[in-house]
Amino acid sequence: MVQKTTELVANWETLQRIFIRPEDEASRRALVKYMEQILFGLHEFLRKHVGITREASLEELSERFKESRISGHPQKKLADVIKGIIENIAPHAVNVASPYFIGHMTSAIPFFMVHLHTITAALNQNVVKIETSKVVSIIERQVLAKLHRLIYANSGAFYEAHIQSPESTFGGFLHDGTLANLTAMWVARNRCFKPKEGFRGIEAEGIAAAQKVYGVDRSVILVSGLAHYSLRKAGGVLGIGNENVIRVASGRRNRMDPESLETVIRNLKAENPRTQILAVVAIAGATETGTVDPLDAIADVCARETLHFHVDAAWGGPTLLSDKYRGLLKGIDRADSVTIDGHKQFYMPMGCGMVFFRDPGIMDLIAYHAAYINRPGSVDLGIRSLEGSRPAASLVLGSALEIMGTRGYALLIEHGIETARAFADEIDRRPLFELVTPPELNILTYRICPEAIRQRWADAGATERARLIRQVNDLNIAVQRIQRETGNSFVSRTTLNHLDEKVVVLRAVIMNPMTHMGILREILDEQEKIYRGLAVSDA
Ligand SMILES: *Cc1c(COP(=O)(O)O)cnc(C)c1O
Repeated sequence: MVQKTTELVANWETLQRIFIRPEDEASRRALVKYMEQILFGLHEFLRKHVGITREASLEELSERFKESRISGHPQKKLADVIKGIIENIAPHAVNVASPYFIGHMTSAIPFFMVHLHTITAALNQNVVKIETSKVVSIIERQVLAKLHRLIYANSGAFYEAHIQSPESTFGGFLHDGTLANLTAMWVARNRCFKPKEGFRGIEAEGIAAAQKVYGVDRSVILVSGLAHYSLRKAGGVLGIGNENVIRVASGRRNRMDPESLETVIRNLKAENPRTQILAVVAIAGATETGTVDPLDAIADVCARETLHFHVDAAWGGPTLLSDKYRGLLKGIDRADSVTIDGHKQFYMPMGCGMVFFRDPGIMDLIAYHAAYINRPGSVDLGIRSLEGSRPAASLVLGSALEIMGTRGYALLIEHGIETARAFADEIDRRPLFELVTPPELNILTYRICPEAIRQRWADAGATERARLIRQVNDLNIAVQRIQRETGNSFVSRTTLNHLDEKVVVLRAVIMNPMTHMGILREILDEQEKIYRGLAVSDA
C-alpha cells in the first residue's frame, strides 16, 4: 500500500510564515486547533489509557530509534508531529498522572500548570537580565520573598526593605533541587574561605590556595544518613571531593541523630584539627522515607559550632503551607539556607528548583558580573546565579500561588499525609506485609514478609538469618518487578538499613489527590496475588 504524502519543502516563504503573528481569522483558528489537538488529544489518551505504560521492552523501543542523521527536508507537519507524539510516544511514556502511580515524586499536575507553562514559552522571557525580562524579573523577586517569608517569617518591614532592593537576594530559581543544593554548598564553601589580606577568596584563587591560606588540610560537608546524592555531586563539583561529603549515622527512626553529629564533629577535629566543616545538611522529607531530621536540635549544634546549616526541603518544604502540619518542619527557620523543589509538592511541571538564604546579602559570595550582560549595581538576576539564561518559572509558581492560595496547597499536603497514614494502617492490618518506615510526611516504605519466615527469623542463627533476609529481599524485588512490568500500577523499590540489616523495601509516595484508599487496597491486593503466584511456582 502506497501512502500519499504531500512533499514537504523548506523554503523562505514557509519559513517566514512560522514566525508571523496570527493576524487573520484563519491563522488564529489554526493556532487554536493545534492547542486543542494537544490538550484534548492528550486528555482522550489519558482517559483511555488507564495503565501506567504500554507493555513494550526497552530493547524493542530502542530498535525503533536508531536514526542518527538529521533529515534534509522537513519530514512532518506540526499536526502530524502532535498526532505522532500522542499516538506513538505517549503510550510508551509513563502515565505519571495515574492515581495508581505512587512510586515516585513525579505525579499529576493541575491542568492550569500547562496553560501557565505555555504562557512562559510564548513570552520567552530570559530572566538572566532585566533587558530580556523587565517586570518578570521583578515578579521573581516577589515570589522569592513570599516563600522566604513562609520559611523565615521575618517582619513586614524586613521584606519591605529587601524585596526589590538590588543589593538583596532572598535566593534563586534554578533548574532543579540538585542545582539548588549545589548553590547552597557553593555559598557555604565561599563563606568559609572569604577574601582577606593577600587572598582574593576561594572563588578567585581556587581550593588549593584557599586551604593553604586558611591552614586547612581537608574540607568536609556533614550530611544526613539519607542525604540525596546531589550533595555528593556538590562535593565533586566544588572541589572538596565527594568522599568528603560525610554521612552522619541515622538513629533508629532514619533521622539524623544530633549526638552522632556532635561525635562526628569531635572525631574529625581530634583526627586533624586542620579540618574545615563547610556545612551541615539536614533533610526535611528524605527522598526514600520522607523522614524529617530533628531540625531544631541540629540547629543548636550548628549554632554552637558556628557552622552553615542547610535544610534540604526539596520534597517537604511545601508542608509549611499547611497550618495543621507545618510543625513537622519546626526549626527550618533557623537554617542558613533551604532548598525547595517546585516540580514536587508545588505541583509544577519539570523543572523548577529553588534555594533560599536567611541572610539576603550572602549571595554576594557567588556574584559574577559580565560586562556585556550584568554590570555592577544592576538588578539583573543573572548576577547571583549558577545558571545563565533561564525561563520564568517564577511566573508559573507566582500564578499558581494566586490560583491555589495557601489553603489550596494545604489541602493537597494534608490529603497526602493523611492518606499515607491510612495506608500504613492498612499495611499493618495485613499479615503478609510489614510496615518498615511509617509515614512522617506522605512517604512510607513496607515490604512483603510472610509470617512463616518471620517465625523462623525469630530463632534463626546468623547464617540462617542472612539467608532468610536474602530470600525476603529477592521476593520483594520480584513482586515489584512483576507489578511494574504488568503496568497497571507502580510502587518503587529501594534498599534501607533496617534493624541493622540491608532490606529491600517497597516505597509509596502519596501526592496525587486522586489516589484514595480504594486504589491503595487494590495495589496491595495485586501484590498479594503476585506473591501467591510466585509461592505456587516455587513449590
Ligand atoms: C528530589 C530531591 C532532591 C533533588 O532534586 P532534583 O530536582 O531531582 O534535582 C534533593 N533532595 C531531596 C531530599 C529530594 O527529594
